[in-house]
Amino acid sequence: MSVIQLKDVTKRYDTEAEIIEALKAVDFRADRGEMVVVTGPSGSGKSTMLNMIGLLDSPTEGTIHLDGRNVTNFSEDERTEERRSQLGFVFQDFHLLPMLTAAENVELPSMWDTDVDRRDRAVDLLRRVGLGDRLSHTPDELSGGQQQRVAIARSLINEPDILLADEPTGNLDQETGETVLDEITRLKNEENIAVVAITHDEQLVGYADRVVRLVDGVVQ
Ligand code: ADP
Ligand code: ADP
Repeated sequence: MSVIQLKDVTKRYDTEAEIIEALKAVDFRADRGEMVVVTGPSGSGKSTMLNMIGLLDSPTEGTIHLDGRNVTNFSEDERTEERRSQLGFVFQDFHLLPMLTAAENVELPSMWDTDVDRRDRAVDLLRRVGLGDRLSHTPDELSGGQQQRVAIARSLINEPDILLADEPTGNLDQETGETVLDEITRLKNEENIAVVAITHDEQLVGYADRVVRLVDGVVQ
């Protein structure tokens, strides 16, 4: 069963000047253990698609299923809860909080969780991405690749089913990008999660189990 499935999803933006159809009858799915890379030129609908998969915005038409449940008409609060518990996010510019240490950044998304082992899990995740000796460093004391590995650890703290990555190598040089992608691939297999990455980076396409190409809001 697919962890995430879009069926016949159309997304229209109503602006003052015009109506933009950013996605046109898109079908999409991702399974556990699979890395799906969504690629396409600027303006083709990649971010819109990520916002659909990430439950950050609702489709104009069509349905979204998460773990087999129809979440299309979920309220904002319900979607926030799904995002917290089922989805991890990684961004091009890392989005780490500069005042916090690596361990605190990783723990942060689980703050609402009263379970006692948050710190242990954060430390374990940082060890697993090779940063066991950087727990107390702040982001400005870490390289770009190390910051992205902290962000990857953070994205997994709530044991999501899906990791959503928006241009995860966009701010990294080729070699650092490769180590980060190796890390994502390894964790994807260990945790048996789906990874959905949007990018126009061909390097990332090489790591994909499946590639979805968007042109003008249509899956090619
Ligand atoms: P990509 O991520 O591939 O660059 P986007 O999903 O950002 O593509 O954009 C697809 C189309 O939708 C573009 O024409 C863009 O201008 C338009 N668009 C995206 N977001 C909005 C918005 N919030 N309001 C109006 N138009 C938007
Ligand atoms: P862009 O694609 O314009 O560079 P980002 O990569 O910063 O934007 O974010 C991609 C999408 O994820 C945006 O729609 C944004 O609203 C959303 N987003 C940004 N930060 C977070 C966050 N911490 N948690 C969940 N969603 C976020």
